[in-house]
Amino acid sequence: MNEKDLWRQVLEELKISVSKPIFQTLLSKTALFSLEKEVATIACPNPYIQSLVETRYYSLLKNILDKKTGKNNSLLFIVKQLEKAGQQKSEGPLFSWQENGGRKRFDRQSGLNRKYSFETFVVGNSNNFAHAAAQAIIKNPGTAYNPFFVWGGVGVGKTHLLQAIGWALKEKNKEINLLYIPSETFTNELVAALQQKKIFPFKKKYRSLDVLLVDDIHFIAGKEYSQEEFFHTFNKLYVSGRQIVLSSDRRPEEIPKIEERLTSRFMGGLTVDIQPPDYEMRVAILKAKCREAGADLEEKAIDFLAENISSNVRELEGTLAQVLAQAQAEGRKPDLEFVNKFFGIKGKARQKTVAPRNVIAAVSRHFKIKTGDLLGPCRKKEFVVPRQIAMYLLRKELELPLVRVGELVGGRDHTTIIHGVEKINKRFSLDSNLRHEIMLIKETLYS
Ligand code: ADP
Ligand code: MG
Repeated sequence: MNEKDLWRQVLEELKISVSKPIFQTLLSKTALFSLEKEVATIACPNPYIQSLVETRYYSLLKNILDKKTGKNNSLLFIVKQLEKAGQQKSEGPLFSWQENGGRKRFDRQSGLNRKYSFETFVVGNSNNFAHAAAQAIIKNPGTAYNPFFVWGGVGVGKTHLLQAIGWALKEKNKEINLLYIPSETFTNELVAALQQKKIFPFKKKYRSLDVLLVDDIHFIAGKEYSQEEFFHTFNKLYVSGRQIVLSSDRRPEEIPKIEERLTSRFMGGLTVDIQPPDYEMRVAILKAKCREAGADLEEKAIDFLAENISSNVRELEGTLAQVLAQAQAEGRKPDLEFVNKFFGIKGKARQKTVAPRNVIAAVSRHFKIKTGDLLGPCRKKEFVVPRQIAMYLLRKELELPLVRVGELVGGRDHTTIIHGVEKINKRFSLDSNLRHEIMLIKETLYS
């Protein structure tokens, strides 16, 4: 079967698994560029669709493709216009790494992806400390802060920062022996090395590095042998003054099922967190992403997006991609009117399931306070926190417009709502009690 037919079949199956707008604006725009040695290269028309499809639909696509081919494929996403992808194919090599005006997009040896460099990293309140520390490390690797431990919720830019550090160090010293690796890959390689009796080359590879960047180290939790091996790798590198950079979704001491001796090593250098971006930073990120994509988004539309998506950079980027792709599909300018419409449609679909008054009732019930107090003016903490949680749920779960949330929560203006939602948002990633409370309330909403 040729690639076109194979992909047509994959898309047919995808169609049943995702919503129509997602299929039309995102997935139908992809094409199978090549399939060789179990590496499927998938062409996407622009970087936004690429990043969205890659982050959200990787496993779904892989499952379908694996089923159709009976193989265990890896997927690689590239930016290529579909027609061009077709033309290129008949011309010569199926795929070359020369993207981005001749610069390699992905560097196999170091595991670094061009997409994630400091050139595209926006610095703001939520990450300026992490950024500053990274700069110090780049100046003095191995001595400034070792290890450097970055933690934060999903999509706040940990991977981007690790990779950017990697690129910057490589630019300073082309010969540097540097490796970026997700901790899961470390584990998988270790298992393979053990099975193939190649543990010695494995140890050698890691212990001879100048810089080791391990992403999502929390995935090492509960894996004793990986922890053991990582401990020795860490020590070897550390004593020889090699830089180690780690990322995780939480502080070292909060990672469960991890050996104490590792935790204390992780805490031995500098630990910094990256928070979800605040409003100004969200605006800056949206502007930067628009510039990158060559998209012209109205200032007002940018404001609207920045106000309405507050969870993390990935979601911000993803939603922007959806808006731009949809506008492009409809041949419209992505102005405020369009963006409003885009959100309006989304909002309605959810509203059907839970009514706003049920949210307010559920929150009051959960905190054992009167609805009148929840919606009223009193600034006592016992009312303020539940009130903010109600705002948060109305906004996040029901995806209601800010103004509407304001009306529902005692006639408050939208800035109060932004503030309230943001407060909860910030605490959400840090405070497990709060997360638990919100989860309990949500359970009563959907049961
Ligand atoms: P994490 O690893 O924390 O889950 P990522 O580094 O994968 O998050 O970031 C998610 C997406 O958001 C990526 O596409 C990344 O490029 C983008 N991103 C995150 N932080 C920033 C930033 N400060 N400036 C620009 N883009 C960012
Ligand atoms: Mg990451």
